[in-house]
Amino acid sequence: MEKIRLLPDEVASQVAAGEVVERPASVVKELVENSLDAGASRIVVDFVRSGSQLIRVADDGFGMDREDALLSLERHATSKIRSAGDLATVTTMGFRGEALPSIASVSRFRLVTRSRGADAGTEILVAGGKIESVADSGEAPGTSIEVRSLFFNVPARKKFLRGEETEAAHIIHQMQSLALAHPNVAMTLSRESRKIWQAAASDDLGVRLRDLFGEDFLRRLLPLESVEENGITLSGYLSKPGESRPDRDQQFMILNGRVIQCPAFFQPLREAYAEALPRGRHPLAVLRISMDPAAFDCNVHPAKREIRLHRPDLVRQAVYLAARRFLERLRTPAAPTPLSAPAVPPKTTEPESPPAEPAPARPKNSGATPLPLVAAFEPPPQAGWNLEAQTGDEEHFQLIGGLNNRWILMQGPDGLVLLSIRAASERILFENLRREMQSGSVPAQRLLIPEVLELPVKDAAWVSENLPILNTSGFSLEPFGGNTFKLEALPSALSGRDARSTLLDICELLRASGSLGNPTLAGESLARSVSSLAAIEGFSYEESRARQLVRELLRCELPYASPRGHPTMIQWSFFELERKFH
Ligand code: ADP
Ligand code: MG
Repeated sequence: MEKIRLLPDEVASQVAAGEVVERPASVVKELVENSLDAGASRIVVDFVRSGSQLIRVADDGFGMDREDALLSLERHATSKIRSAGDLATVTTMGFRGEALPSIASVSRFRLVTRSRGADAGTEILVAGGKIESVADSGEAPGTSIEVRSLFFNVPARKKFLRGEETEAAHIIHQMQSLALAHPNVAMTLSRESRKIWQAAASDDLGVRLRDLFGEDFLRRLLPLESVEENGITLSGYLSKPGESRPDRDQQFMILNGRVIQCPAFFQPLREAYAEALPRGRHPLAVLRISMDPAAFDCNVHPAKREIRLHRPDLVRQAVYLAARRFLERLRTPAAPTPLSAPAVPPKTTEPESPPAEPAPARPKNSGATPLPLVAAFEPPPQAGWNLEAQTGDEEHFQLIGGLNNRWILMQGPDGLVLLSIRAASERILFENLRREMQSGSVPAQRLLIPEVLELPVKDAAWVSENLPILNTSGFSLEPFGGNTFKLEALPSALSGRDARSTLLDICELLRASGSLGNPTLAGESLARSVSSLAAIEGFSYEESRARQLVRELLRCELPYASPRGHPTMIQWSFFELERKFH
């Protein structure tokens, strides 16, 4: 066995660098966060190729005098906390005193800084952790840091970097996150001296969103008015129902000014949108969350991306309720904001070059799977586009007839509307069932002869765990030893079906919905599964029956999507029809 020995400082810094600096984007993050902590009102970031060649971050913050500049390169040198006790209430982005020495130990590093009011500034050159020169410099007050040849002396780390475009995309995404978290600081991002975006300082998050992603992106979102729940304040922008992405790349969670990755914020958002989006799609969101710094610990991840919440349940609930109410408010007739783009003052200067990562294209409605009502048709350029705000009134819809026994054709306020009988029926059943479950009055149908069912082990386990929920949703089930259960009643909506296969279908649907084992969601998922099994596929057109269906649908809280997130209605606007027929 080798003897234990202390690592030389340089090596220790390189090891620490591995944790703080994973890739060029981490350098950008650490440097920009330092600029923010230095009170900068303007931050300019420039990089070359993947960022491994050069990253430059310049700010107009309070700068450093020579002594501090030298100290800033020492490990665990920080001006931001003094004792472990300060950790609980830290409000700055940084506090570990690790970033600068870590970055300087794995690059060719140049720091130029001048504190406000000082006669001269300081320039320090460092290569692979060794200070090579310290000199006067005549720059303007503020700090500029250049990081060249990242990982030049740690080939093992360099090998782990991905392709140039991937690393550049990480930098761009990182900068978007930082810019969204701090709209009041002007920021510019350039690659090879070509501007990717330039965002003016603004108190309005909407302005920042438009500067970063463009007008089209902003149009897909609506502001979430600030709400407080469990001592947690939430505000920001959320996507309209039906607007979605296949991944979470456009979800930004900003906790007290810090962009974080934490399931307690993402999951409840997805759950709230479960009824408004198809499976596998994710809402767009920029959520600004503020809560007492003592309610979480941000010192659990080297790059502070992850946090530990002391009460994750309260956070989950707050996010879920905020998003849920946001969606429901879109439905009430008195909705203060119709579904048109939020008012953001017009941009004064045009961006000099198009955004490198353009907002994803609006989904087209020509495919085989149309999107929910709001997304299914292109808004006319100027005309109002708030059919949704009016759907509550059935007199806005004039029945035309049936199509293939599965759809109902109507004339709506803005165009031709096709309603899916199946999706509408699912939505109506779902909301009825949920209401009945809440009041404990789900109509049930007793079986003439109780059935004893033996279930596969995994289903049996789930059924036993969720017996109380099943028994409030119209089932009447009793454990009957081992994997067997005695079934005495089914929800009336499912009467007449084979008991065993119905129960197995329910288990299957619940498994597919991924909500097994989450009791708060199990009830909702159960209602969704039952309504999906019980929904009618269609009927041969009969005006009174169609009218009844439309009336019941429009009375629902969320009439535009089935509980599984499929559209109940799609529309071709008159505008679009005119255009199609020239
Ligand atoms: P931390 O941010 O955790 O304190 P860093 O290694 O990132 O640690 O920075 C070390 C110190 O250097 C900071 O505490 C701060 O005092 C100083 N510093 C770093 N960057 C800047 C900057 N852009 N402007 C002014 N001071 C800075
Ligand atoms: Mg820092």
